[in-house]
Amino acid sequence: MALKISKKCINCDMCEPECPNQAISYDGIITVIDPARCTECKGHYDTPTCIAVCPIDVIAVDPEHVETEEQLYDKFVALHGDLLISKSAP
Ligand code: SF4
Ligand code: SF4
Repeated sequence: MALKISKKCINCDMCEPECPNQAISYDGIITVIDPARCTECKGHYDTPTCIAVCPIDVIAVDPEHVETEEQLYDKFVALHGDLLISKSAP
């Protein structure tokens, strides 16, 4: 499932540059995660890197966006398919 940032976020900007999917953004008021782009870091890291860097632990799973491992990996392929093809090319 995608992750979600709670209202306790202090907008420190530690997480946004670490996201491999450009799923995190600051809209001028709050920092948010786009569930269409969040893969829980599947395909990039073993664990969600935004959670690892958040200094106050305000990122958690979003129960409104439940996805299987397969769906998350499919999202990774959809976002980074070009990267996979170029890496496998001779
Ligand atoms: S879990 Fe990974 S893909 Fe999802 S918002 Fe955090 S850093 Fe980005
Ligand atoms: S690292 Fe944590 S506190 Fe900082 S902007 Fe991201 S979610 Fe908010």
